[in-house]
Amino acid sequence: MRCSEYLFATLKENPSDAEVISHQLMLRAGMIRKLAAGIYNYLPLGLRSLRKVEQIVREEMNRAGALELLMPMVVPADLWQESGRWQEYGKELLRFKDRKEGEFCLGPTHEEVITDVVRRDVRSYRQLPLNLYQIQTKFRDEIRPRFGLMRGREFIMKDAYSFDLDQDGADRAYEKMYQAYRRIFQRCGLKFRAVEADTGAIGGTSSHEFMVLAESGEDAIVSCSQCDYAANVEKAELKITGESTPPPMAELAKVLTPARKTIEEVAEFLGLETGRLVKTLIVETDTGEVLAVLLRGDRDLNTVKLTRLLGCAWVEMAGEETVVRMTGAPSGFAGPVGLKLKIFADCEVALLADFVTGANEKDVHFTGVNLGRDVQVDTFADLRQAEAGDPCPRCHGSLEIWRGIEVGHVFKLGTKYSKALGATVLDDQGGERPLIMGCYGIGVGRTLAAAIEQNHDQHGIIFPMAIAPFQIMVTLVNPKDSQVVEAGEVLYRELRELGVEVLLDDRDERPGSKFKDADLVGIPLRMTIGARNLEQRQVELQERRSGERELLPLAGAAAEAAARIRSALKAME
Ligand SMILES: [Zn+2]
Repeated sequence: MRCSEYLFATLKENPSDAEVISHQLMLRAGMIRKLAAGIYNYLPLGLRSLRKVEQIVREEMNRAGALELLMPMVVPADLWQESGRWQEYGKELLRFKDRKEGEFCLGPTHEEVITDVVRRDVRSYRQLPLNLYQIQTKFRDEIRPRFGLMRGREFIMKDAYSFDLDQDGADRAYEKMYQAYRRIFQRCGLKFRAVEADTGAIGGTSSHEFMVLAESGEDAIVSCSQCDYAANVEKAELKITGESTPPPMAELAKVLTPARKTIEEVAEFLGLETGRLVKTLIVETDTGEVLAVLLRGDRDLNTVKLTRLLGCAWVEMAGEETVVRMTGAPSGFAGPVGLKLKIFADCEVALLADFVTGANEKDVHFTGVNLGRDVQVDTFADLRQAEAGDPCPRCHGSLEIWRGIEVGHVFKLGTKYSKALGATVLDDQGGERPLIMGCYGIGVGRTLAAAIEQNHDQHGIIFPMAIAPFQIMVTLVNPKDSQVVEAGEVLYRELRELGVEVLLDDRDERPGSKFKDADLVGIPLRMTIGARNLEQRQVELQERRSGERELLPLAGAAAEAAARIRSALKAME
């Protein structure tokens, strides 16, 4: 492809309404254009990358034995009424009527339609297992669409649905999809983790979210440096290390701590590590209950764990007025000794002796505080936030903290839809059984956006080879120089003959602005053809990611570039 004949629509300025980097860069690189809130045009350059992600998804789904089909985007209401979701689903479901007053919606997901497909044509266990998928445009009427393809209203998704006779079969289908997803994101060249989204009481994990690691991710996740364990920070289980409470050595004593309110200030004043202090948080629940939570001074409360433990809707730090009323002191001096509140303590506190707490008195702390003797804890539980370096709950590795963008989800659905819609099969005894389903989604556009969130620098996108719109850009420094044009044309032809996806920048523009565009669009390799190097029969090859440049002999430059592209692709498999 030649830039002069291509819709090469780069922007110099940052679009004012783009908040996240992938949105900014996709607009600036000329990959997408907004048509309405949360609705985008995919320009030729953007579509090339999108199709590559789709193709990787398709190949891996097919390899896992799933069958592609295509369901309509417009779905009649009666199917959604059968499942009960017509009423349950909020305004995200775009409902409308046709000219005959028939009710329809735009499918945000296709469980009902696929269950209908299967109940019509699958009647016997002999037709199982079955996994059907589509790559289709979906619509969800988000109240605040933003972040470009990250949270659009119209978006392209791969959704797959598995159907099995029994739980073992359903578990195998799930495992196959889990492995296929790992291959998909690996082949896209992404750093990712599969995070346990829900460990149900049924036993085993019933859901995983696939997260692309990026600083801008909306979810904080922990993952083990040694094994596959990964979880949302809120859900991360913590291994309790240490034996039992050491015996008290010190007497309980009051110390003056004038104007020292924070853990850091008190620790510094007393010449202690923050981990030798215990903080007392006064917490209020949605039902108006007030309680105290003890944590080691260097730890943070995980409110999700506390909320789950209490079985309430939410918890929050009590306001100053409540703290004063309950402790008799301004905040910063609360402590468990003599406190008339229910006391919850993080398990780690049980391993401490002779610690420091507030004394429920302004400018005063206690030293030599000990559990049992001075403080009665009502409940010990895992209540703290996981931190980098914490031991892995599954192995001897340690936890790392990342931020992640959810790009895929595998989920054991069970019989919710098959029962609601009457999708049953006959088993080998002739008995009728509801199908056991799983559902598996990948946001295709979202994966592309997440790839950019993970792979960019101040100059623009740095595409992984497998999903780059083109593999190499050949830049003619001066397209008016006949020798440059001639060498460029030869290389362009040779590269195409070698099966390389090449974009020839033959535009009559300043070299500086062409180099800027090449960096912005993020094509992995750039070959620069300039008059000076040509005198030595050489061209320059530059890698977008490392910025490294080298001179290659003109003869054989195309073959060398093609070899590097092949090996980059191979490394991602
Ligand atoms: Zn581990």
